[in-house]
Amino acid sequence: MATVLIVEDEQAIALLIKYNLEKAGYETICVSQGNKVLPVVEKNNPSLILLDWMLPEISGLELCKIIRNNPEHKNTPIIMLTAKGQEEDKIAGLSAGADDYVTKPFSVPELLARIQTNLRRVGNMSNDKKEYVFKDIILKTREKKVFRGENYIQLAPTEFRILKMLITTPRQVFSRDDLLKEVWGNSVYVEARTVDVHIRRLRKALNEFGPDYIRTIRSTGYSIDDHDIT
Ligand code: CA
Repeated sequence: MATVLIVEDEQAIALLIKYNLEKAGYETICVSQGNKVLPVVEKNNPSLILLDWMLPEISGLELCKIIRNNPEHKNTPIIMLTAKGQEEDKIAGLSAGADDYVTKPFSVPELLARIQTNLRRVGNMSNDKKEYVFKDIILKTREKKVFRGENYIQLAPTEFRILKMLITTPRQVFSRDDLLKEVWGNSVYVEARTVDVHIRRLRKALNEFGPDYIRTIRSTGYSIDDHDIT
């Protein structure tokens, strides 16, 4: 069941949305304070976020940017809820990474339709990527598990994300910058050399059960490839 996080400081509106979403079969979590949003997102990993623009302490727009920059949540649909209807506000919302935009006062059927559309979009995306396989390496996205043949490989979250990026497009070379952006996000400053450290750990874990399929392309980056494995 999809869980919708409702971030709204006006209680009447929050209750109205909560009531209608639950009637439509969604689970809901309500948060009224901007500073409580990120911990809830981390803990509950909602399927979709309804985010009010005008919140005390931190604006919905700022929150949207922060959530988007977190690699774990960069695909979570965010619908901005706002009383603002100006074209420039809409553009600001979308450029902060919101997927959609609903202006108050809104009709409940319209809001439900937007939620459905946005959930369907990511649902389709994740269906395509339930599992990635390269040779004997299997990466299961939902379970966040990696196997080599029958052997379970325990990976730290960073190594998992690196492998996921590589295995999505085998033989494509990813630069350290590509990996930094995808795995760590834009907001964090990480040295390019850090990538090498995690690649080393990833290799060590994977190669315990088979040949080394991670290819280092000198001064360029990495790929997953079986080019010189005989
Ligand atoms: Ca508000």
